[in-house]
Amino acid sequence: MIELLKELIKIQSDTKEGANKALRYCANWLTEKGENVTVHDNKGYLMLTAVKGQGTETIIWNGHVDVVPGHEEQFVPFEQQGRLYGRGSADMKAGVAAMMQAFVKLNSAKLTRNVQLHIVTDEEIGGRNTSKWLVEQGFHGDFVICGEPTGLKVGLQSKGILRMDMTFKGQPAHGSRPWEGINAIESAMTFHQAITNLPFRKESTEYYDQPSVNLPIIKAGDRYNVVPEICEMSYDIRFMPGQDKEEIVRQLVDLAKNLDIDMEYKASGSTPALTTTKENPYIQSLQKAILTITDEKAILFGQHGAADTRYYAAVTGGEGAIEFGPSGEDWHGNAEYVLISSVHAYKNILLAHAQSTE
Ligand SMILES: [Zn+2]
Repeated sequence: MIELLKELIKIQSDTKEGANKALRYCANWLTEKGENVTVHDNKGYLMLTAVKGQGTETIIWNGHVDVVPGHEEQFVPFEQQGRLYGRGSADMKAGVAAMMQAFVKLNSAKLTRNVQLHIVTDEEIGGRNTSKWLVEQGFHGDFVICGEPTGLKVGLQSKGILRMDMTFKGQPAHGSRPWEGINAIESAMTFHQAITNLPFRKESTEYYDQPSVNLPIIKAGDRYNVVPEICEMSYDIRFMPGQDKEEIVRQLVDLAKNLDIDMEYKASGSTPALTTTKENPYIQSLQKAILTITDEKAILFGQHGAADTRYYAAVTGGEGAIEFGPSGEDWHGNAEYVLISSVHAYKNILLAHAQSTE
């Protein structure tokens, strides 16, 4: 399996063409092993699906072969102290290689459910052309594992995203007589500082200490001698599973009202949270598989950002798409590696989970 992983790392898949080349490599490899593979093309982005088993239940293994750009030498994999270094080793060609190996080992006749393998090529640029497209074509299931590197921990939830653009309105005046105007920048600052005390900001859950509020954009003011009339601020709010984004918007609007601040807002997009709980039967059986293979109790946690999981979860009300993959470090960095032992364990866990009879 590590040989397969090395071959995948050598394919410089940090471009569309490179990722397609890696995808074709995977398709050929699986076909040579006797698997029935379908390669799909959406706007020139290739992806593959393969299915085994029967019944009404479907588990999906999703992996991406595209990687973020790396230095030339990172596409030459090497082993050191049980680690395999190289661009994409952890994120996530190890996951892909393990899924491919596990897939060919599945005994189709003995499976009590369907197992679909999805390999895609545009996760690092948003996943809209492949994973999202596959879901739109009907390739979704009861439980989806995206093989992102999680250190064999189960990333069963992910925060939702709420993006808001606020416009604070003041009243212009001469800079020498600021008391005659209302400074829109100061209104915005007052508002921003008061967010910390809102109820939604102080909540926590089993998997998260708090939601997050990032203020990434401010536009205001252009000269010294004028009290600024307008201040525009944009927020990127990551809310926790169980939090209601409409309620968060309400709290923000009420805050401006209570502070007597003239504020208009526009919600400029949102992504729901991923809400799988530990009661989910597939999480239960996955925990058992992890314990059996690694002799260690599974650790469940909540991710902060979302991966391709969100597209699969979009058709199941946020439930049943998780991130779970091998152990590594420094993905997107210069010293990216994957722990080789974790790749073997990961493959065995996938197999045990898919073949479990619960
Ligand atoms: Zn990834």
